[in-house]
Amino acid sequence: MKRNSLSPQTQAAQALHMLDRDSGAVVPPMHSASTFARDENYEKRDGYIYSRYGSPTTTQGEQIIAELEGGDMAMLFNSGMSATVAVLEALPMGAHVVAQSMMYHVGLDWLNRQASRGVIGFDSFEAGNLASLEAAITPGKTKLVWIETPANGDWSITDIATAAALAHAAGAILMCDSTAAPPCTTRPLALGADISFHSATKYLNGHSDLTAGVLSAREGLEIWDEVLRVRGFQGTVLPGFEAWLLIRGLRTLFVRYNQTSDNAMALARHFENHPAVERVLYPGLPSHPGYDVATRQMTGGFGGMMSLLLNGAEGRALAAAKACRIFIPATSLGGVESLIEHRRTVAGAGRGIPENLLRLSIGIESVDDLIADLEQALEAR
Ligand SMILES: *Cc1c(COP(=O)(O)O)cnc(C)c1O
Repeated sequence: MKRNSLSPQTQAAQALHMLDRDSGAVVPPMHSASTFARDENYEKRDGYIYSRYGSPTTTQGEQIIAELEGGDMAMLFNSGMSATVAVLEALPMGAHVVAQSMMYHVGLDWLNRQASRGVIGFDSFEAGNLASLEAAITPGKTKLVWIETPANGDWSITDIATAAALAHAAGAILMCDSTAAPPCTTRPLALGADISFHSATKYLNGHSDLTAGVLSAREGLEIWDEVLRVRGFQGTVLPGFEAWLLIRGLRTLFVRYNQTSDNAMALARHFENHPAVERVLYPGLPSHPGYDVATRQMTGGFGGMMSLLLNGAEGRALAAAKACRIFIPATSLGGVESLIEHRRTVAGAGRGIPENLLRLSIGIESVDDLIADLEQALEAR
């Protein structure tokens, strides 16, 4: 049976089931070699030469993710940032790029840095606002449109299919940062995106024990080979051990994401009308401006990312973050453990993050414990 005729859930659950023909091992071996011997004709075997260009375990991880994404190819990097850096580096010099003004903040820092050095032209648009996106695109000049959905901060939702149509009409490609919506809920390539990007550090791995980034695409994407070359120059391929751990994490992607989504929905509903809470920003709530698009675009659940805006005096949100006993006060997202973050403190002032905002990454613990923990933390001063 062809693997890609199987349901994605089966593909993920058996992500390690690539029987080693000699031993029958259900779990494939982890390759750590930095170099590969040529064969008797002095040819490369399976295309491997030197691990800076890739190695077998990394290729296995790429194949599994390409299948899950419904793409033809994937490229793994040693972080999400190195993947996005490589995409920008592969664009022609001076290319015009359009991205959200509210997005993963280090990605935005990189765009601004490259723009200030004259490497790219850069215009931003308001996340989730398609008219603002259309206005930021310059037909014939814009080469890359970069969206993030749901987007860091307020989890605003951008309609991927419409964004793709706008990008393509202008002669640009669309890259979708789908970190907060892994392929068990959203497959950006099927909606028209040219590149699906994930910080695989987050849901794809899910265990907070590595950093990784991945790009997926369909055959024939013009920029792909250049991105691959850049990865080779920069030496940012995901090493074998991390690829092996990532493959193990992928195996439980669907169950982790389902539990996370159920927990998050229950928690969001609980705090939506809570006296200490001004607003819950969660795309799974009908009160969220992106709810309708999210319902269409996140078919396997709304995930675990939300923000709470608190009522009350300044300092309350930071006090609550410090008072949690189960929520861990750490950055990142998408792991099995729940995290809480006072974004203003972590990302810095001047980024438009409200002082009363708490960002939550909901894990797979008992939701009753999570709700009780937040309840007691909201009492803190
Ligand atoms: C974490 C993150 C990144 C960057 O990925 P790293 O693996 O930390 O380099 C990019 N986009 C989003 C939405 C993220 O959450």
